[in-house]
Amino acid sequence: MTSFPATARRVRDQSLDPRVRRVRLRNCLDHFAPFGFRATWNSLAATHCIPDRIEEDPASLVLALEELEAARALVPPQAAAFAALRRRQKRDGQRVPATLHPWDSWGCHAIAYCPEPQRFPAESLPVVVGRVLEACAAGTDPVARCMVCGSHDRRPRMACPNCGVLPGGRNNPV
Ligand SMILES: [Zn+2]
Repeated sequence: MTSFPATARRVRDQSLDPRVRRVRLRNCLDHFAPFGFRATWNSLAATHCIPDRIEEDPASLVLALEELEAARALVPPQAAAFAALRRRQKRDGQRVPATLHPWDSWGCHAIAYCPEPQRFPAESLPVVVGRVLEACAAGTDPVARCMVCGSHDRRPRMACPNCGVLPGGRNNPV
């Protein structure tokens, strides 16, 4: 599979057919789709008004890509900070708490997985991804409180009834 940056360059390549560029944007979601593939696509398409006839507004693809890239850029610094914290805790002989670490356990893909493709948070991807990463770093209990919208109306292994996010993702719901 080609890398995210290489695929993103194809989305911006105005020499390509807009329909090809749209396919490339979808290919970017194979690498990074915070809500899962379908919900992330629906969120980007709604926010940036990506038309069915993409020839009418190919620039919408680039705006959607920029939102996706902004969310993706948040992950490495947080992952590095988390690794440093773990090293400090180990060095100090602290018992390492079972803090969630999405970049290891779920990958950054589907970090705020929405099982229903039409139900996803209203906020932008960077806002939601940033909130999940902060909640993980702070050791927030995802069962007591939704990491995305803060709702206390949580049922274990069920998507949040307020924002649609299922913490832990498809494979490891909490
Ligand atoms: Zn929620």
